[in-house]
Amino acid sequence: MCRHLAWLGRTRSVASLVLEPPSSLLVQSWAPRRQRYGTVNADGWGVGFFVPGRSRPARWRSARPLWGDPSFASVAPVLHSGCVVAAVRSATVGMPLEESAVAPFTDGHWLLSHNGRVDRAVLPPVRDAESTVDSALLAALVFARGPDALGDTVREVGAADPAARLNLLAADGARLLATTWGDTLSALVTDEGTALASEPWDDDPAWTDVPDRSLVEVTPDGLTVTPLDRPARR
Ligand code: GLN
Repeated sequence: MCRHLAWLGRTRSVASLVLEPPSSLLVQSWAPRRQRYGTVNADGWGVGFFVPGRSRPARWRSARPLWGDPSFASVAPVLHSGCVVAAVRSATVGMPLEESAVAPFTDGHWLLSHNGRVDRAVLPPVRDAESTVDSALLAALVFARGPDALGDTVREVGAADPAARLNLLAADGARLLATTWGDTLSALVTDEGTALASEPWDDDPAWTDVPDRSLVEVTPDGLTVTPLDRPARR
């Protein structure tokens, strides 16, 4: 199972999110603290972020482990953004091992990461998936339905595959959307912005756990959590 995170708030370096915290994604790639499925996230990693003046996110992905990408470590301190999605991957058995199978996926406007698995046979046919990996097909479905229908899409897919795990994390530069469906997610709200992460990247007591089967929305005004057991807000 992968680990992912997102940030919306004050502009900060990508390194401060992905590499520098004591339990950063870098550390989580070999020593996650709350991971329920899989032990090491060595099958690739990716980061996408929005910068002023460009509506489309910039993205850097790799099929290598995050610790095997030292060039990124030299660049990350000078990449700055106020809206970031990043992930490290532990590939589900049978899924392709390639850069295009690594989150975050994009339709050019949204970034989306999937922590979990889903039976590809239950997904409706979609166009423009970046890879045949389950997560890319799911991302293409979310993009096709529209991220504002994220809660409905997760409920529908979860009903079609009761064994599915569907923790999703999406961003468009102005807000974050996330779901919990089978795995952990924590939130950190500060004066400088809001972080969502599969697990806390440090021991700050301000981190809170998001209940399973929730829809999370983060805007500059704050964070809202809605149970997915009842119809989502549209
Ligand atoms: N199923 C996805 C993959 O194979 C995500 C796996 C995960 O969350 N560990 O990449």
